[in-house]
Amino acid sequence: MSIQPPILKIALPVPFRRYFDYLLPIHHDINQYQPGMRVSVPFGRRQLTGIFMQTAATSAVPIKKLKYINELIDSTPLLPANLLTLTQQAAQYYHHPIGEVLANLLPTALRQGKPIPETPPLHAPTKQLPPLTLNPDQQAALAAITAARDFFQVFLLAGITGSGKTEVYLQALAALAKNRQVLVLIPEIGLTPQTLQRFYERVSAPIVTLHSGMTPKARLTAWLQVRSGAAGIVIGTRSAVFAPFQNLGLIIVDEEHDPSFKQQEGFRYHARDIAILRARQLAIPIVLGSATPALESLHNVNNGRYQLLSLPQRAGVASQPHCQLIDMRKQQLSDGLSAELIQSLRQHLARGEQVMLFLNRRGFAPVLLCHSCGWSAICTRCDKRMTWHKRAGYLLCHHCTARKKVPTACAHCATASLIPVGMGTEKLAAALSQYFPDFPIAQIDRDHTRKKGELEQTLARITCGEARILTGTQMLAKGHHFPNVTLVAIIDADGSFFSSDFRALERMGQLLLQVAGRAGRADKAGTVLIQTHHPHHPLLQRLLQNGYDDFAHVLLNEREQTCLPPYRFLALLRAEAQNDVVAQHFLREVKQLLHDLAINDVEILGPLPAPMPRRAGYQRMQLLLQSAQRPALHHALRQLMPQVEILKSGQKVRWSLDVDPAEIA
Ligand code: ADP
Ligand code: ZN
Ligand code: ZN
Repeated sequence: MSIQPPILKIALPVPFRRYFDYLLPIHHDINQYQPGMRVSVPFGRRQLTGIFMQTAATSAVPIKKLKYINELIDSTPLLPANLLTLTQQAAQYYHHPIGEVLANLLPTALRQGKPIPETPPLHAPTKQLPPLTLNPDQQAALAAITAARDFFQVFLLAGITGSGKTEVYLQALAALAKNRQVLVLIPEIGLTPQTLQRFYERVSAPIVTLHSGMTPKARLTAWLQVRSGAAGIVIGTRSAVFAPFQNLGLIIVDEEHDPSFKQQEGFRYHARDIAILRARQLAIPIVLGSATPALESLHNVNNGRYQLLSLPQRAGVASQPHCQLIDMRKQQLSDGLSAELIQSLRQHLARGEQVMLFLNRRGFAPVLLCHSCGWSAICTRCDKRMTWHKRAGYLLCHHCTARKKVPTACAHCATASLIPVGMGTEKLAAALSQYFPDFPIAQIDRDHTRKKGELEQTLARITCGEARILTGTQMLAKGHHFPNVTLVAIIDADGSFFSSDFRALERMGQLLLQVAGRAGRADKAGTVLIQTHHPHHPLLQRLLQNGYDDFAHVLLNEREQTCLPPYRFLALLRAEAQNDVVAQHFLREVKQLLHDLAINDVEILGPLPAPMPRRAGYQRMQLLLQSAQRPALHHALRQLMPQVEILKSGQKVRWSLDVDPAEIA
């Protein structure tokens, strides 16, 4: 009887949805192999670093064709078993190649096969404030979370901005962090130095942060400190959900509705959803916090999957801001500002307070128009208008980042009569400095926070009171706490009413309330002014009169009637090529595969041009799969994708699969 050599199943960073089989060299001891260790293997003409996953007795490939492992790199598993399980589940759920998922979560040096360095020591913060006395709602929330310490439970901590959610997180993690690690996921780390500061001041366990702005070396250090268990608290952006925890005891997802938790390229996962998967696997509680929860999360509360914890009141002394619509129809406008708004700004400034103006459009003007013939500057790669960035001195395409010199005359009729139309934050700031020359302005948007330290500097100018007028994009809406801001103005609330995306109104409501939440955070009452051409829009009315819950309830009903998420489950296959026929051909073949599989319960729409049919010179097409049953959709994808990845027509296009797409654009 011949003894079968063991087959080793290896995950490799290549775009195929399977493991690769290798043989054990004669001089290797199989007992030294443990799942989660790295190996180096030959792959085609290359050497690749992969992860050893498991052994098998047989291979679908004839033994003679299999190659041998080159080297076993690690002597202890680089990745803990629970993380291997998580990545397997995540790869399955998103139908993404597991080797790519694993490679993605490794720090660069380790991905390249370098040895595991020693873990640098980590010190606990020294400062500590005493905790605040919780109000009854906060107490109830804290009690529910700590009571769930040893089992899986998803909590939705819903409370308006300033209701004391962060205080609940701080006390929950203090209660549960003894000998266990805590993961705090936040949308964008650079934007919330104040929140971070609060954790450093209040938490006694050693903290590390994990985010994309770190150097590879700092990231590696933090990663190792999580892996060794030295890091008690990990505060990070979406990729931190894949950190190599030793013994995770609690997960907190702050601003759980935030779109930045969804990765929009490559491995398109949703960090909140992966976090829930992870909590379930480890049998630990997870807290999703938001003032404006995602419709998915509210739906899960309604159907009993999540437990709702409400904080209906503002904590401390602050009261709710007063919201008011400004009807912009037939108004005399100067630079997009109504007379009413200008007057209010004047009053608040005269009282020595700060004001904030929100406009979700960067640059000076979104259109540069020829006044004599109607021509406007267009990005030739996207067929979209280019934004004039006056300060920087160029036209910029906000879709593909293409730049052009600002023309001095019309490209069509050669007349030198180009005029800016519409308003961006840069123009808004210019207008404000004309109206209020005595009050310094602080600008917060991507154009003004690019340089290192620039955002911190601006935030410091605001905190110390030097800057009196604050303007910016949605960056302004995120988590900042400026106690002296008493007036918040939304310059244009109307953009989302015309959007083709099914989540546009949900996002509009969330953003509006997040921005409004910046007003009156301390002992001074806040006012919110909203400029709109649709003051009677029923959803806007409901949002302002009845609040977010009612607004969300209406939207959920609409989603149900129109068969959209969370009542339907979607997967979007995108394909782009320089020639749209090529992209279409690929998607037609995919559609044929689906027909051949004779799949029921999944509806196929397309191939159709994407809502933005052209970007950066590529023609974009898409195929939408939808089902009323999640298992039916996944069953279909599980059979489909291994066939799609080997289609010849797929090699001529850039394609990707997006499960639970954030937008179908
Ligand atoms: P959120 O995270 O919901 O926006 P925070 O936790 O940041 O709310 O609380 C808002 C403000 O209220 C902070 O200044 C915080 O220190 C204060 N605060 C929170 N809880 C209490 C409490 N129980 N008593 C007094 N002040 C509180
Ligand atoms: Zn012209
Ligand atoms: Zn472009």
